[in-house]
Amino acid sequence: MTSQRMLIRNGCVLSLDKKVGNFHQADVLIEGTKISAVGPNLNAAEAEIIDASDMIVMPGFVDTHRHVWEGVLRNLATDTSLEGDAGTLTLILKTLAPAYRPQDAYIGNLVGLYSALDAGITTILDWSDIQTTRDHTDAVIKALQESGMRAVFAYGYPWWKDPDERQEDWIRDVAGQYFSAKDQLLTFALASPGPEFIPLERAKAHWQLARELDARISVHVGVGTAGKLCKLLEMGKAGLLREDTTYIHCTTLSDEEIQLIVDTGGTVSLSSASEMTMGYGMPPIQRFLNRGLRPSLSVDAETNMPNDMFTQMRSVISLQHAMIFDRKLAGKHNLPSFMTSRDVIECATLEGARANGLAHKTGTLTPGKEADIILLSTDRPNILPVNDPIGAVVWGMDTSNVDSVFVAGKALKRHGKLLNVDLDHLRRLAYESRDYVMAKSGFSLPEI
Ligand SMILES: [Zn+2]
Repeated sequence: MTSQRMLIRNGCVLSLDKKVGNFHQADVLIEGTKISAVGPNLNAAEAEIIDASDMIVMPGFVDTHRHVWEGVLRNLATDTSLEGDAGTLTLILKTLAPAYRPQDAYIGNLVGLYSALDAGITTILDWSDIQTTRDHTDAVIKALQESGMRAVFAYGYPWWKDPDERQEDWIRDVAGQYFSAKDQLLTFALASPGPEFIPLERAKAHWQLARELDARISVHVGVGTAGKLCKLLEMGKAGLLREDTTYIHCTTLSDEEIQLIVDTGGTVSLSSASEMTMGYGMPPIQRFLNRGLRPSLSVDAETNMPNDMFTQMRSVISLQHAMIFDRKLAGKHNLPSFMTSRDVIECATLEGARANGLAHKTGTLTPGKEADIILLSTDRPNILPVNDPIGAVVWGMDTSNVDSVFVAGKALKRHGKLLNVDLDHLRRLAYESRDYVMAKSGFSLPEI
């Protein structure tokens, strides 16, 4: 199908590309894997027609940081915070993760990836800190390939213990085996624990290895109590902060560290919902906006958070407004501008594509980019009548509105249903894996 022409016709098209524009009614023409035209009344002889009347047509959402392997552990830690003996760092990473076999990482990933697709996310950065053995890596990549998503596989070793001395060889091996071709759905990054969780010299070596392999870097910094130990300034003095790096959370960083990220061209991933509820510190949305940097958004962990970007958009814009209104009510003047719905929808699409190193391929509906497109139903009772399409997506919709999902021109969800997914089989695998991990780790499911 991807070698053919496809016309998405008569939709409300949000290209989110200022040069292309947005339209109350227009078409999107796809040829092969790419968008070839966006505009009203396109002429497309012999194209397969996708009727998008009663739909908003927009770029797929981009999630820039999720520990996808945790899929079979979803909602397990909703009343826990990050730190402490009963916190998620201890529970998920030190208790449950060590029980994972390669097949558990595979199934966790499958569950997480299909749920992301179902929610209209077409690109995800899989922060895959479950590479206990070389077999775990093959298992996770198999799931990424099977999902059909555009994904950044961010290789992460289990950073809650000393890394296996073979890790560096495995990383080189994986880069050569799976990522020597650049023109594919999967790209490669290194998931670095960061210079507050591991010794500085090891962090430096990790980043140097990423540059040697031409891989982007994704790193947690300024996280909770550990953030006070952050050596970001020292990494900066060593010339290691560059534009190929995405900094996650940044909640307890100093202004000097925040400025250094901006000055060196870095990108940022905020998971404001988990940051607020789990004790990472205050999401630094305004501190970055003040410096002209718009963050990307990320789900982080389904152990605590829902799987979608609607939640992330509403979380971060609500927080930003609350902080400004709080200052206003305290009599402060010269306040910053409020984020708009357009700002935050771009954080969840275009800024995500930038942070994943994929802005040339996805993030807007621009002719020449890959056809990563979602269709959102506007004829459902939760959203009609649509009066402001961008406001409707950001504030009114949820995953039930995600009718269709295309990645590189290929349909992966149509008419509200994932295609080519055996849900009965997936359900059986998920419960078997969950039961194995619980039994092996000695952890019991919560009482209700
Ligand atoms: Zn994370």
